[in-house]
Parts: sequence; structure tokens; C-alpha cells
Amino acid sequence: MANGSDSNRRKFMATTLQSIGLTALGGFLWSGYSDEAKASPLVLRPPGALPEENFLKACIKCGLCSEACVNRESNIDKETGEQRPGTLKMAKGGDHKLIGTPFFTPRDVPCYMCDDIPCVSACPSGALNEASVTNDKGELDINKAQMGLAVVHKESCIAYWGLQCDACYRACPLIDEALTLDYQKNDRTGKHAFLLPVVHSDVCTGCGLCEKACVTEKAAIFVLPREYAMGRAGDHYVKGWDIQDQQRVGQRKMNEIETHDKRSSEAPVDYLNREIEY
Ligand code: SF4
Ligand code: SF4
Ligand code: SF4
Repeated sequence: MANGSDSNRRKFMATTLQSIGLTALGGFLWSGYSDEAKASPLVLRPPGALPEENFLKACIKCGLCSEACVNRESNIDKETGEQRPGTLKMAKGGDHKLIGTPFFTPRDVPCYMCDDIPCVSACPSGALNEASVTNDKGELDINKAQMGLAVVHKESCIAYWGLQCDACYRACPLIDEALTLDYQKNDRTGKHAFLLPVVHSDVCTGCGLCEKACVTEKAAIFVLPREYAMGRAGDHYVKGWDIQDQQRVGQRKMNEIETHDKRSSEAPVDYLNREIEY
């Protein structure tokens, strides 16, 4: 039979363990909460993901996309027979993404643009929208994915220094369409050429194979969510030489569209010197 001091000791241990457990749980919940509060909007979602706001409403955080990604047949290393890490990860505390949602980091593991897009087919909630990656023939078409857009940082891209590098170009699954090399004469040496990587936003899927392949210490070409990588001219600017562009502004006539502001008729030196706020 336990004596009084044994039973007190047991009670003390139980209470202590309970408080440690509660503190740990509290810490976990708090880290989850603060992680959500710090969630970065610079997040790359799987192919076919709805626009971010709708995606977050639709995704039920089941993880089936990420499971399908890592378990796909093409993810077995042919030489070793071992399974490689999957592209898609489910965000956890410390990832600075909304916890439980799928994302990928191209510099670690890019999207290999699987023809059968198993991640999208596995999604039960419609957060990954099959229609957005289906072509006119009704076939799944990964080339229609818009996971992000690759951006080149010219100052750190060694091809812009005049050194020979085409690692990103060669890695691009849509070579010569999404990523081309622009030939320019190198005036400094007079006899060499620059071969400059140029990304085409109408074709680039944001797979990140270029970012993964980039040889610089921190990738000089990297994928951003499209809304952060792209500008927008606005409807009031019309390409006068492009008849189709008129369709963007509907029935309004070219000469009715005002692109001038108060500064337009003045030379910069005039309005800058007058310190007028526009
Ligand atoms: S398409 Fe990309 S994200 Fe989807 S399963 Fe293949 S590698 Fe993974
Ligand atoms: S399968 Fe769909 S619902 Fe499930 S975690 Fe992935 S995106 Fe979200
Ligand atoms: S992200 Fe890079 S590799 Fe992928 S399609 Fe775009 S330019 Fe090509």
C-alpha cells in the first residue's frame, strides 16, 4: 500500500507533467498563431491552384496533393531506386506560410511538370482546379499551369556580366518558349557576345527548374507569385498599333482615352523646379 508521501509525490509529478504538457501545447498553438500572423504572401502554390484568396477558402488542408506528388512513379530515382523528396510540402510552424496548406520552394525541389499532374487530380476540394490546366482538347496540360513567374536579377546573373552560362535556359522544360537567350554584342571586349536569359510571361509556368539550376550562390533567376512579379499598365493605355488591343477598352474610341496628366505638356525641368505636388 502506498504511504502518504508516495501518493503526494505522484500527485506532484502528475501536476508537473500536466503543466509541462499544457505549456508545450500552448507554445505550439501560439507558434501556429504567430506563424499565421507572419505568413508570407510570397508563397508558391501547386499547379492549378485557385487565386490565393479563393484557394485559402477552398483548401481543406488534407495533404492529398503533397502525398500524390511524393508518391508519383516518376519520383523514384532511377539509379538508386529510392524515393526522392516531393515538390509539395504542407506548411508547418516556422515555415511562415498558412499552416497546413501546400506550397513549394523551387530552390529546394522544383515542380517537374508531370504530364498527368497527379497533385491536381488528387485534390478533393477543387482548390486545385483541373479546368485551369485542361487544354482545348479536354486533356490535362501542365503547360497551362501558372504557379508563378520567373524573374531575372540582372546584376547577379553572370550571363549579364558577359560570362558564359546557360544553365537556366537548358533546364527550362519550355526552352525557347518560356525562356530564350537574347544575343547582344559585348562592346567592352568587342569580340564576345552576351547570351542573356529572357523570361516570357505568357508561357512561363513558374515551375522553378531554372531557379534550381542557377549556378549563382543565391539564384539570380527565381520564381515569384505572378501578382508580385508582374506590373499592370491599366486600361487607359492602348497599343495604338495593335487592333486587338482596342478590345480591352470596349467601345471607347482611341482619341477619347486620356493618357495625359497635368505634367504631360511641360518639360520635366519646369515642373520639377516649381515643386508642385501632383
Ligand atoms: S506537377 Fe509538380 S507539384 Fe504536381 S505532382 Fe508533379 S512535380 Fe509534384
Ligand atoms: S489536396 Fe486540395 S484540399 Fe487537400 S491540401 Fe491539397 S490543395 Fe488542399
Ligand atoms: S519557371 Fe523557369 S524553367 Fe519553369 S517555365 Fe518558367 S522560365 Fe522555364
